[in-house]
Amino acid sequence: MANVKPPKYVRQVLVTLQGRGYPAYLVGGCVRDMLLGMRPQDWDICTGALPEQIMEVFPDSRPTGLRHGTVTVLVDSHAVEVTTFRTEGAYADHRHPDMVQFVGDLTADLSRRDFTMNAIALSADGLLADPFGGAEDIRRQLIRCVGNPEERFEEDALRMFRALRFSARLGFTVDLFTMEGIRAKAPLAACLAAERVREEVEKLLLTRSPETMFTLIELGLLSSYLRPGLPDPALLRRLSRLPRKAQPRWAGFCRILLLAGCIDSVEGFLSSLRLDNATIRLAADSCAILASPLPQRDLDRKRWLRQYGVETVRCALSCYDAFTGGHESRELRRILKSGECFSLRHLAVSGDDLTALGLRGRAVGEMLDFLLEYVMEYPDNNRRELLLALCAGTEE
Ligand code: ATP
Ligand code: MG
Repeated sequence: MANVKPPKYVRQVLVTLQGRGYPAYLVGGCVRDMLLGMRPQDWDICTGALPEQIMEVFPDSRPTGLRHGTVTVLVDSHAVEVTTFRTEGAYADHRHPDMVQFVGDLTADLSRRDFTMNAIALSADGLLADPFGGAEDIRRQLIRCVGNPEERFEEDALRMFRALRFSARLGFTVDLFTMEGIRAKAPLAACLAAERVREEVEKLLLTRSPETMFTLIELGLLSSYLRPGLPDPALLRRLSRLPRKAQPRWAGFCRILLLAGCIDSVEGFLSSLRLDNATIRLAADSCAILASPLPQRDLDRKRWLRQYGVETVRCALSCYDAFTGGHESRELRRILKSGECFSLRHLAVSGDDLTALGLRGRAVGEMLDFLLEYVMEYPDNNRRELLLALCAGTEE
């Protein structure tokens, strides 16, 4: 932790609150990341001050989650989330607490948090508050629920996904008792909104250990979305070779699920998880490409480019390379770099040229198709005069 220090504006919020007599701590992911020697993505502060007191201390602030006691404070144009210590009431829907209650006590706030490593607070003068042994669990690389795992997953079923996601991201082991809790409570995942599940699945796919998805599926956390079956863990591991971007990872994941018989339609699966249309299209087309034989000739590669577009072919071929260790993306880059024509947009003649030659109606489209096929095979001949002459010749 010695080498990761909170920035000045964060310290300023802590010190200002303390100066006004309110206890204030860094808490959650940022403390965990600091203990791991990693730079946190954001800085969360918890405090004994009530939301209206926070806003009084920092006039430049706005209530961003008042129901949960969260106020966003602006310091030197940086936003810091400051949240009042709170506990949570019952969770009728296995996700959202029915009510939250502000408390004056840091330990009560820490005890509502999901895992021991996420339930550590750090004061401005460097003192750790760690009532559940989170620092020791971080040292042992262990993900462990605060309190009784089954009860904690019963309250909020999303925590089961979070446990596996953190394990994939940090390379930590899920503690045995916590894992048993997930196994017991996995059916509650069916109560979660598809959007929440999608976010977690996507974050897990983007980690460096996407093979953790095997455990997620094996435990039954995706049973509402998949047919019985298990994906190949070796292929899941290879997803990490794909660019760290959501779309190719979803496409590769769908391919693996199709191969395992866990899904029979990419569109059906991804729309049940409420993915956006662009990702659904890209993944479905990529899987269609991956299911067909690999082109041996540039002409066939260009036919793919014409039919599916550059982005989709690039995505499919990077999946192909990730799974097989092949170099098809290189072939694609070569074609793109050559500037050779594979779309009507780059053909040296247009529909208007053909109309000027006297062609009408369907004949125009058919001739354009013919010319495009021709220049895809003979790229050097994508020249206007030559193509017009060829047209005239064919028409005679
Ligand atoms: P990340 O780096 O992914 O943002 P994080 O630990 O900061 O990790 P957040 O989702 O930003 O995760 O949540 C911030 C903190 O809020 C967590 O560290 C944890 O203490 C608490 N928390 C978040 N979600 C839950 C939950 N579902 N149940 C209990 N505590 C939670
Ligand atoms: Mg966070």
